[in-house]
Amino acid sequence: MSIDTKLVEKAITEAELQTSGEIRVHIESHCPSDVMDRASVVFSALKMHKTQARNGVLIYLSTQDRKFAILGDGGINAVVADDFWQSTYDIALPLLKDGNWTEALCRTLHSCGEQLKAHFPYQKGDIDELDNTVSWGD
Ligand code: CA
Ligand code: CA
Repeated sequence: MSIDTKLVEKAITEAELQTSGEIRVHIESHCPSDVMDRASVVFSALKMHKTQARNGVLIYLSTQDRKFAILGDGGINAVVADDFWQSTYDIALPLLKDGNWTEALCRTLHSCGEQLKAHFPYQKGDIDELDNTVSWGD
C-alpha cells in the first residue's frame, strides 16, 4: 500500500503547531536490526539531537517488516513517564496491522503533538529546527 507523503507532511506541520518538539518520520521497507536500535541510528543520521530543547521525536516505520517505533530525545525522556508513548502506540498499532500506513502515521503525529504540548508547548516565534519532510530509506 502506498503512503500519501503530502498528508503525512501536513500532519507533521500541524503537530508542530501544538508543540516546540520537532517531529520527523522515517520510512523504509526493511528494518535491518532491532527496531529501537535502528530508530536510534536513523535519529543520529538525521541529526535529530540538534534541537535546542533536545525534544526531537522520530517516528520510524518499516513497511515490509511492519516494524514501528517512536523515539524521543533526552529532553523528553527527562520529563515524561516511561509509558509516555504507549497511548500513541495503541492508536497506531491496529492501523499498522491493516497496512493503513498513512492513517497510522497521521494519527501518531496528531497524538505526538497532543502529548508533547503539555511539556513542550508551542512558543511564539517558533523555529522549525528539523525539516518537516518525510525521510525515505531504501
Ligand atoms: Ca519548532
Ligand atoms: Ca519540524
